[in-house]
Amino acid sequence: MTVGVLALQGDFAAHARVLEELGADVREVRVPADLDGLDGLVMPGGESTTMTLGIEREGLAEPLRAFAASGAPVFGTCAGLIMLDREHLQIMDITARRNAFGRQVRSFEADLEFPDIEGPPVRAVFIRAPWIEDAGPGVEILADVDGHPVAAREGHLFVIAFHPELSDDTRLHARFLEDVRSHVGRS
Ligand code: GLN
Repeated sequence: MTVGVLALQGDFAAHARVLEELGADVREVRVPADLDGLDGLVMPGGESTTMTLGIEREGLAEPLRAFAASGAPVFGTCAGLIMLDREHLQIMDITARRNAFGRQVRSFEADLEFPDIEGPPVRAVFIRAPWIEDAGPGVEILADVDGHPVAAREGHLFVIAFHPELSDDTRLHARFLEDVRSHVGRS
C-alpha cells in the first residue's frame, strides 16, 4: 500500500511521518509521474494560493483530477480541503471559505465528535482554517464548529479543515488508510 503526499508546499513532512508510523509506504508527490501507482493521496495544509501556483507550474491539475476520478481515496486537510473545492481543482462538490474564522481567530483547538471514529472526541488544531460554505447533496458533513462544517466526506473523498498531523491523535489518518486498504482490495 503506497500513499502519496502532495509535497509542493506546506505541512507534508509531518503527514508522511504519521502515515509511515501507521505502516504505509509514503511517496512525496511533486510532478505528475509521482502519482503513478499510488493507492491514495493526502493534500496537506499550507497556503492555498502558493499551492495553486505550484500545481499550475508542475502541470498537476489534470493528473490530480484524473487520480481522484479513478476512485482512489483522497484526504484533504486545511489548505488541502480548499484545493479540492469547486473553485480550485473542482474535485469535490463543496465550496470552501478561506480564513473563515476571521483574522482575530487565527488558531484554536476544539474537540470534535466524528460519527465513524471510536473513542473520545478528536482534538482538532485549527490554523487560519477554512470552513465549508456550501456542499452538494452527495456530501456528508461529519463535524462542525458553531454550526460551520469543518469535516466532510463524499464517497472516497475525505476533507477536514484542521491539522491532524499536529496532534498525537492518529485516528483520522488511520481512518483514511482504511479507505485506502479497501480500495486496494477492490481493484
Ligand atoms: N489559510 C490558509 C489558506 O487559505 C490555509 C491554512 C492552513 O492550511 N493551515 O490557504
